[in-house]
Amino acid sequence: MKAGGKRRARKRPGSGVIWMLSIVLIAIALLASGCEDGSAEPGEEHGDRAGLPHDDVIEIRYPGGAPRAPWCEVEEPRIEEPEILEPEPVAEDPGPTSGLPPNELGSVIVLMYHDIGGEEGEWRRTHDNFWGDLEYLWENGYRPVTLASYLSGEIDLPEGMTPVVLTFDDGLSSHLAWKDGEVGNSKPDTAVGMLLEFSAAHPGFDAHAVFYVNSPRPFHPMPQEDVAESLQWLVSEGFEIGNHTHYHANLGNLSDEEVMRVVALTEAMITDSVPDYRVQSLALPYGVLPRNRELAHRGVFDGISYDYDAVLLVGAEPAPSPFSVRFAPLRLPRVRASSDELERWYAEMQQNPLRRYVSDGDPDTVAVPEAWADRLDEDALGSRSVRWIEGE
Ligand SMILES: [Zn+2]
Repeated sequence: MKAGGKRRARKRPGSGVIWMLSIVLIAIALLASGCEDGSAEPGEEHGDRAGLPHDDVIEIRYPGGAPRAPWCEVEEPRIEEPEILEPEPVAEDPGPTSGLPPNELGSVIVLMYHDIGGEEGEWRRTHDNFWGDLEYLWENGYRPVTLASYLSGEIDLPEGMTPVVLTFDDGLSSHLAWKDGEVGNSKPDTAVGMLLEFSAAHPGFDAHAVFYVNSPRPFHPMPQEDVAESLQWLVSEGFEIGNHTHYHANLGNLSDEEVMRVVALTEAMITDSVPDYRVQSLALPYGVLPRNRELAHRGVFDGISYDYDAVLLVGAEPAPSPFSVRFAPLRLPRVRASSDELERWYAEMQQNPLRRYVSDGDPDTVAVPEAWADRLDEDALGSRSVRWIEGE
């Protein structure tokens, strides 16, 4: 459980009452003395005290305001500023959890989507099914995280939650398109639009996803002149952009030089569009590695270099925890988001709960089942400490 979530700002008992009393007393003193701002009613002062009926009071006007009585020169008593309490953060209901004990050596599903909308197919998910996928994730304690946080192990989720990484290949207009061509106003039936809508309705379910784009025309038929701003917008919204090569090349068919060219050209499109953005990963078109495998993640062409932390495959199982000795981000498996594959892997996660990454709610510790000690990659811990979990 996150410590900050439930902490309440503590009020000093009675401090509010003392503060109120001070204000009242000072207000009375000021009114009685007529010192407030030199606008004391002379009529009140003289008429009442002299016991004369009000009608007979001679109004005295002081040019420049009433003279201040000597006692007015006395410095006003200093009132200690009350401590201003920060508004209490309302502990948000994190929504349904897995209900499972923590296990941060469990697997993480990296979901692979292609087209969204239209008829269901091998490379296409209907709108209804995509929405249903999000509902399943929510109801079963899965929460989207960035690929960056998964790779680095900086997964900050409430206790009992399982991270999931959403990826969308091919840079399609069903992922991102603008209503009335207005950049920043995403169409509601796109992957981005639906993710934002779902996230808004389900606090704690952040709209994170990686969009693997091809150069030179991602999100076609988006006008070319909108591409840079659109990529910038994605990053500003917390989405990530990955490389899917120039014209969706099959890297297995290319020479080393050609491999580096098609990767570098997409790298350049992204970084020219979003200065300072570091592209972190490449999704292999068709899942095919180049003959020289290293060139999938590192290379240089025409002065454009790339150096990625992860290379994503097209299949075919949940990915290891970043703290597992089996973690191999340069061959990162994904699960195709089709009904069959999802049913299969969600069932596997349900029936074999140890398989599933479950957060302990503390990003500074790594919860490891005692029986899995030999699967822990101690080098991946960094400054985190291990929290051993008893059990099977
Ligand atoms: Zn593709």
